[in-house]
Amino acid sequence: MFGLLLDFIYPRKCLVCMKIMPVEDKNIFCSNCKKYIQYIKNDCENEFFNKRNVFIKRNYGVVVYNEYLKEVIHRYKYGKKEHYGKILAEMMQEKFEDIIKIHNIDVVIPVPIHKNRLKVRGYNQSEIISKALSKKVNIKHDKKYIFRLKDTKPQNNLNVKMRKINLKKSFKLVDKQNVSYKKVLLIDDIYTTGSTLEGCAEILTAHGSEVYTLCLAVAVK
Ligand SMILES: [Zn+2]
Repeated sequence: MFGLLLDFIYPRKCLVCMKIMPVEDKNIFCSNCKKYIQYIKNDCENEFFNKRNVFIKRNYGVVVYNEYLKEVIHRYKYGKKEHYGKILAEMMQEKFEDIIKIHNIDVVIPVPIHKNRLKVRGYNQSEIISKALSKKVNIKHDKKYIFRLKDTKPQNNLNVKMRKINLKKSFKLVDKQNVSYKKVLLIDDIYTTGSTLEGCAEILTAHGSEVYTLCLAVAVK
């Protein structure tokens, strides 16, 4: 009842065109925008990811990072739209639960952002998503295990080699001597070259973890 009331006060808007959706419509996108969202099928998933990511056991992604998703994620990250996180997590929930079961994951960790960036942005977009996902299945969520040591430059204009140099020693594990996770699922919003995830995976692997990743959107080359 309360949920229904909230729907009237804050009706759901299509994340792409912002059109107000009918109260009974629980979809994330309106019927028109839905056709622009390309979900990634499990069997063709592997071909989208960088084969040189050696520290990652397996990558997963939910949708193709096209211009529509780009616009939505940009608004989410830089437009103070923290509430988008829970909605975007809904898109990922089914795949997330499958991965947890298949690989027997014991902890979920969001890719960290540097504290300077956190101050500007107000929140870590990956953490909002990973928290929402974890809550539904009651799995351990550790947002503090790994942190970003260096405030790396935006990666968009760098090639793969430069990205790696840029990310070297960017991440650090908190000093939890007794904590070691067996199977970690890293969560991020966008997969482009995979170098950020690889940077996290390298340090987690060195600490005895097996690393899997799940991203909302994957840039297909
Ligand atoms: Zn729409």
